[in-house]
Amino acid sequence: MAKHQNIALFVPHQGCPQDCVFCNQARITGQKRENQLNENQVRETIDSQLNTMSKDDHVEIAYFGGSFTGLPRSYQTMLLAVAKEYIDQGKVHGIRLSTRPDYINESILRYLDSYGVTTIELGTQSMIQEVLDRTKRGHTVEHTKQAATLIKEHPSFQLGLQLLPGLPGDTLEYSVYSAVEVAKLKPDFVRIYPTLVIKGTELEWDYALGRYQPMTMDEAIERVAKMWLVFMQANVPVIRMGLQPSEDLREEGTVIAGPFHPAFRQLVEGYLFEDLLQVIKAEAVPEIIRIHPADETALRGRKGSRWKGFINQLTQSVILELDRNEPRQCVTVISAGRKQTYHMSQLLSTS
Ligand code: SF4
Repeated sequence: MAKHQNIALFVPHQGCPQDCVFCNQARITGQKRENQLNENQVRETIDSQLNTMSKDDHVEIAYFGGSFTGLPRSYQTMLLAVAKEYIDQGKVHGIRLSTRPDYINESILRYLDSYGVTTIELGTQSMIQEVLDRTKRGHTVEHTKQAATLIKEHPSFQLGLQLLPGLPGDTLEYSVYSAVEVAKLKPDFVRIYPTLVIKGTELEWDYALGRYQPMTMDEAIERVAKMWLVFMQANVPVIRMGLQPSEDLREEGTVIAGPFHPAFRQLVEGYLFEDLLQVIKAEAVPEIIRIHPADETALRGRKGSRWKGFINQLTQSVILELDRNEPRQCVTVISAGRKQTYHMSQLLSTS
């Protein structure tokens, strides 16, 4: 199967009208905000990364870290034109970029389409206006709805929406509501980044002064799990949970506080497997439990504690089997010759 690969080029904070209170792209990408990319740098980055990729990979050139459609048009055109050369040569498959919901309109979309842009990611963050205002986003929930609807009218674009649970003023209920509202917009994928306190942001000050308290790790896991269930049920893939643990992010002093974990997604999966095992315990007498091998670590838990805890509650013995043919995020139970598959999305009705 073709592997998706991004060639990431960062435009940190460039094109943004102001800094949102949680954001320090310069710190997390390790690039200075005043450094504009030039044509040579773009080509060198693309060429060197292409050399490390297989010809079968599905590759997109990705302009991340700023508000792409807020950049000066000449700068956008240079970045897009270079990327388009690689598309025309058949070396990459498309262009991916991130921007703000209020920086999208029909003429912008036609312009992006003419250069072969394939994916647009919108910094949605929350679907609660009070949260957007407290975060100094400078746009409305309505902007997000309008931009997403407009992008969906262009079949050439994939739409990605990013959510940040745990922003100032956010709650568990608001985060789940935001997930429900975002799912209604039918994005092609979602990313969920629990809010962290990053060095050099306004949130760092608010945290230092006791005006902002980030979610604990347990709160973040529960909240993101509940949001994910909403997306599972709506068939919207969540392609990322938690910030990429890049070297810059892991550098001492970058994350001041908040639920940062390099394998955050696995913690969320573990939380949901825990609930799923409890449902199975209540409904079945499992003799064999079968899962996809990629789910084994999350199912077993830290040092195998989740699995041990589960089997200790049973009166019969149970065999754990790994099978690549099993779907992900599922547990198949075999009992008295009968087979039943439990999927995490079932948990929405019990959560
Ligand atoms: S969150 Fe987006 S719009 Fe806000 S400062 Fe960061 S890159 Fe710019």
